[in-house]
Amino acid sequence: MISIFNDVIGPVMRGASSSHCAAALRIGRLARDLMGGDIQQVLIEFDLHGSLPATHQSQGSDMGLFGGLLGWDAADARLAMSPQALREAGVAVEIRYVDLHDPHPNTYRLTLSNATEQHTMIAISTGGGMIEVQDVDGQRVALDGGARVEISGRVLHPVLPVLSNPGATLPFRSCAELMAHDGGREIPLWQWAVEYEKARGNLTDAEVLAKMVEIVRILRASIAEGVAGTTYADRLLGHQSGMFADHMQRGALLNAGVLNRTVLYTTALMEVKSAMGVIVAAPTAGACAALPASVIAVAEEMQCSEEDMARAMLAAGLIGVFIAGPWTFAAEVGGCQAEGGSAAAMSAAALVTLADGTLTHATGAASMALQSMLGLICDPVAARVEIPCLGKNVLAASNAVSCANMALAGFNAMIPFDEVVGAAARVAERMPREHRCTALGGLATTPTALRLSAELAARAQM
Ligand code: SF4
Repeated sequence: MISIFNDVIGPVMRGASSSHCAAALRIGRLARDLMGGDIQQVLIEFDLHGSLPATHQSQGSDMGLFGGLLGWDAADARLAMSPQALREAGVAVEIRYVDLHDPHPNTYRLTLSNATEQHTMIAISTGGGMIEVQDVDGQRVALDGGARVEISGRVLHPVLPVLSNPGATLPFRSCAELMAHDGGREIPLWQWAVEYEKARGNLTDAEVLAKMVEIVRILRASIAEGVAGTTYADRLLGHQSGMFADHMQRGALLNAGVLNRTVLYTTALMEVKSAMGVIVAAPTAGACAALPASVIAVAEEMQCSEEDMARAMLAAGLIGVFIAGPWTFAAEVGGCQAEGGSAAAMSAAALVTLADGTLTHATGAASMALQSMLGLICDPVAARVEIPCLGKNVLAASNAVSCANMALAGFNAMIPFDEVVGAAARVAERMPREHRCTALGGLATTPTALRLSAELAARAQM
């Protein structure tokens, strides 16, 4: 059961990639529980044919997994130091690339031991920080980290913010089911999002709204931090949002209306992400900026309240539920259509919500936004989730602003949202591995990208 807070707007985290860093951290926390907190050796095996051999270091899987093994939180300020901290805690780590042909490209096989016991765990990262533990000590399981579970004589504590609610009856699971449930009443998308999350998480209306207001406040603080300036050694791009803010203030940019503030906030959030600051994976860390930047920029221009921003984010969250349910946010599976494309669709629905558009407007805007992102590949330069990720977040946000206005003006999306998601999934099936977050294709293999990659590697050894 997808939850807006567990799986779509969240986790609140540090690191470049939610499917690497935050997901690995959640897996690590569960593995720590499996060992009762006493770990002396960890063998980590990654499939040679998957995504992780090329990305586990640069995109933060190691950092997240090690932080989880230490019992840390996804937003812990010490996260960048987790490899050293794990060594200092006396845990020996070995990483092997093995010819396994695992069905999922983000599969973690862990063998953990201490002086008296050994346990194994197989888990996958399914995108946006979501995980599934598939095997513990040779027993088939299906754990998402949303509940307290007793297994192999140990208690695995929940690692998700909203607990599982096995008795929940969801009002709808797809956009088509939502439209049928609404029955032409045109109840705003954000209200349906509250109904959904109440049923999913056993929460009240006030709790759902308050949780999202808290997230909006975190995001506004991160935007301010980004514009003020961030630094981090292991990144490619410097502090560009400050230059953009300066040019905006001097009137030295083209008059693009609300788009300029949107670009500024998108850049600021991406810089905070790459500087190991606190961000919200919405829906992922790589695509963390388009949705919050567009919502907060447009809402500020319209002088909306933080509650209004939260309602827009909830509307976005429900569109994300309709993607994550049948498909994925994982670029390793779906390319950047799954990250940037999802962010564009969610943002478009959120912006319609800020303008008091109807349910039909909001879902139509989401459909149009995703339609034009099909085929987008994932090819981060030097596996650093900066280039072309900044541009792809800007693209998603700009696309969302346009599609929101088109929907509000009555444009016809023609293809229902669920069908567009299905089309994206079919496109992904035909997308080569090289274009799905492996740093083996696209811009990642240009001469300049290879040079930058070598320079970063040399810098890391100095
Ligand atoms: S190219 Fe897109 S999917 Fe790939 S890391 Fe960048 S933002 Fe994520």
